[in-house]
Amino acid sequence: MPLLYMSVYNKYETVIGLECHIQLLTKTKMYSSDVAEYGALPNTNVSVITLGHPGTLPVINKRAVEFAVKLGIAVNANIREENQFARKNYFYADLPKGYQITQDKTPICTGGYVLAKMKDRELRVNLTRIHMEEDSGKSQHDIDPFETLVDLNRAGTPLLEIVTEPDIKSGEEAYAYLTEVRKLVRYLDICDGNMEEGSLRCDANISVMLKGSKVFGKKVEVKNMNSFRNVQRAIDFEVKRQIDLIEAGEEIAGETRSFDAVNDKTFSMRSKENANDYRYFPEPDLQPVYVTQEYINSIKANLPVLPDELFKIYTKEYKLSEYDALQLIDRKEVAAYFNELVKHTGNQKSAANWVMGPVKAYLNERALTILQFTLSPAKIAEIIALIDSGKVSNTAASQTLFPALVKQPEKTAEQLAKELDLLQNSNSGELQSFVDQALAKYPEKITEYKNGKVTLLGMFVGEVMRLSKGKADPKLLNQLVKETLEK
Ligand code: ADP
Ligand code: MG
Repeated sequence: MPLLYMSVYNKYETVIGLECHIQLLTKTKMYSSDVAEYGALPNTNVSVITLGHPGTLPVINKRAVEFAVKLGIAVNANIREENQFARKNYFYADLPKGYQITQDKTPICTGGYVLAKMKDRELRVNLTRIHMEEDSGKSQHDIDPFETLVDLNRAGTPLLEIVTEPDIKSGEEAYAYLTEVRKLVRYLDICDGNMEEGSLRCDANISVMLKGSKVFGKKVEVKNMNSFRNVQRAIDFEVKRQIDLIEAGEEIAGETRSFDAVNDKTFSMRSKENANDYRYFPEPDLQPVYVTQEYINSIKANLPVLPDELFKIYTKEYKLSEYDALQLIDRKEVAAYFNELVKHTGNQKSAANWVMGPVKAYLNERALTILQFTLSPAKIAEIIALIDSGKVSNTAASQTLFPALVKQPEKTAEQLAKELDLLQNSNSGELQSFVDQALAKYPEKITEYKNGKVTLLGMFVGEVMRLSKGKADPKLLNQLVKETLEK
């Protein structure tokens, strides 16, 4: 792109606020005892409450409140004591009651922030609110060629909506924020975070304004992005579209747009003039829910160690690199495995290398997750101990001992190393005789070495290694050969 052309875009700054819906991992729905599972036969988890029959009454799902409080604590939000629910009225085929029970003026959490790691810095995104609500059903347009089919299994499923302040400045930052949110909800065990399955959804509000301006531009809301990458792509497209419009002297229409991933662009769905008037009012069928400080404390006491804290432990205490730490933390299960492993070994660096090296490669090759890995962390620690004591070489451990131990986890690593004849020769008496044999073969080379051709050391070492059938401890061997040559 020519520089002049680029500079047009550089005149503007981008303002983004994200609204995420996360589907909670509760057994039952937000206001009924219907099962809230994914993938059941259509319209099987739909009692009269889900269907909104007259005379039926909703009841709050306690677990959903607990999950909201968990998330609130994790993002340092203020957690509201008196929580009211509200009716948001609108008509849609997959909304059987004709309204959604949500929270309007009293969201359970306000404020708080998410810290996301970017390549070169830490990003802080402030949160506006988190509130509880229920999902709608699903309209299926692509099963029957003529009709739209409705599956109400999802109707009433518990959701948390997480709304950010307009703090995000690029598609890249949005991506980093979403990655952190997903990590967080997975660590908290409140949502599986699968955007592709729709259990984590995100709408992006995007506007642009001249750099340094105090007034935000008109925002456009983009929906229907089913991956983090697509959120980033939709934002990148939208920013350029809006700047081009402004530069052409046109106005930005406040509207809702949809992302078309195939053509990599957004298109208009509806304008804000047709915006719904939801006629919110307090839900008359539900009592307010009270969240006491005691309750909050009890949840706080049982909160798992969160990614941020792990990052500090890994980098500060274990002295791992930031890159290694982030790799390990990325998946909760992997971090849990590593945490268990370092209980059995003091060599944290080696533990990290084993988890991200041979273990990860083994799992990737077989398309397994670490939860399906049969070798316990204690066994990996045994291997590390064998290497650290010089009994088995690194290569032999990763290439031979490790795969063998996976197949025979009932044996100890040392037993197996013995059976496989992998134990290094660290018996210096025997080693010394190999060294003497090797040196005796090349008397003229010894003279050359003594005259300054020190590179010959490698040749001698190689010879001894051959005599020991590869089982000599390389460190010890090097030392011994050197000492003998220099006698
Ligand atoms: P609405 O009333 O249209 O729902 P809100 O004020 O509730 O708008 O904000 C919804 C989301 O849009 C929030 O994440 C907020 O940070 C973001 N937002 C608000 N104004 C702008 C703007 N001008 N540009 C980009 N995002 C914005
Ligand atoms: Mg709003």
